[in-house]
Amino acid sequence: MDIIEIENKHGAGTYTKQPLVIVRGQGALLFDVDGVEYLDCSSGHGVANLGHAHPKIAEAIYKQASTLITLFETFPNDKRAELMEKVTSLVNGLDRVFFCNSGTESVEAAFKFARISTGRKNIVAAMRAFHGRTYGALSATFNKKYREGFEPLVPGFSHVAYNNIGALDKAVTDETAAVILEVVQGEGGVYPASAEYIQAARRICDERGALLIVDEIQTGFGRTGRMFAIQHFGVTPDLLTCAKSLAGGVPIGAVLIGKKVQNLTPGVHGSTFGGNPLSCAAGVAALTVMEEEDLPGQAEAKGKYLMEKLKKIESPNIREVRGLGLMIGIEMKQKVAPYIKALQEKKIIVLNAGMTVIRLLPPLVITYEQIDHLVDVLAEALSADSVTE
Ligand SMILES: *Cc1c(COP(=O)(O)O)cnc(C)c1O
Repeated sequence: MDIIEIENKHGAGTYTKQPLVIVRGQGALLFDVDGVEYLDCSSGHGVANLGHAHPKIAEAIYKQASTLITLFETFPNDKRAELMEKVTSLVNGLDRVFFCNSGTESVEAAFKFARISTGRKNIVAAMRAFHGRTYGALSATFNKKYREGFEPLVPGFSHVAYNNIGALDKAVTDETAAVILEVVQGEGGVYPASAEYIQAARRICDERGALLIVDEIQTGFGRTGRMFAIQHFGVTPDLLTCAKSLAGGVPIGAVLIGKKVQNLTPGVHGSTFGGNPLSCAAGVAALTVMEEEDLPGQAEAKGKYLMEKLKKIESPNIREVRGLGLMIGIEMKQKVAPYIKALQEKKIIVLNAGMTVIRLLPPLVITYEQIDHLVDVLAEALSADSVTE
């Protein structure tokens, strides 16, 4: 049986499969079984910020795998301690960290910490928000496509319009444990927050004694032109969730924790794989590469370059181009599935964000030549006036 048939037969059925078997990557490129080259503008949904098969990540994984892969967090470890120091040095005031294994787990941890810290139950999230697919995170996720059929969800969650200070002000009360926000909404359609909104969220939370959680799972680690997107706005959250590219592609999640978060005592939370030396070693290597190669700076410069070129594309099919750094959404006037298919036929892999937005999340190491090529192909594909499914 061929690879696609095997996956269709034995996979759970929860994914729409592309007709494309990918076996290898290098920088911003992916290669299929026949060696055909694709420009990856998805980074596995924002995981491969450092590019594929980075030699320093590969070396760190190999070395740690032949030293010690697993160790429960009750035993201190050299690599874990190193990652703790490095990751907590990224944001002033977030000096503690809880390690887990994925984005949604970091959101779950943040909610538990918010409730145990404040003694309150309610969480306020935003419309269009995506925070993950396990029950707590799903309860904060807005789109009914993810929620329908899984009720009852966790009580205590509500959603308010994004980028709307008045709505947030009304929703947060003295019974609110936390507000959770993405700094740029990713799955929801690539909508950046305004500086005023994020700053107001900080002020409203402080006034009512609620904690501010920012979900930087997609926006983190250089993607938007800063190490974390919140750093564009001079705001420090109480809890910051991250995952995707923290360990260069090895599964990991983390919650960075501020001073106001209390009551984190033994037994409050835990994870078998959390803080394992293998992913911590990969994390140390990834953060080192991010600094050495100044990936946030690269994302800022390349994002600006790409954005300017995209805004010059003259097509009646494009409604708006928006984003921050190398997190860019192209909102079309029609459904994007046929465009995404056409781009894939031209050897470019992009994502959607909802029905009408093409989302670009290339590895931050994408070259200027690759960006030029991307723009050329996009200009042609997005101008075609009769794309049908
Ligand atoms: C991807 C993502 C998640 C979920 O992460 P998983 O590792 O898939 O559980 C949560 N929040 C945001 C903003 C994300 O982009």
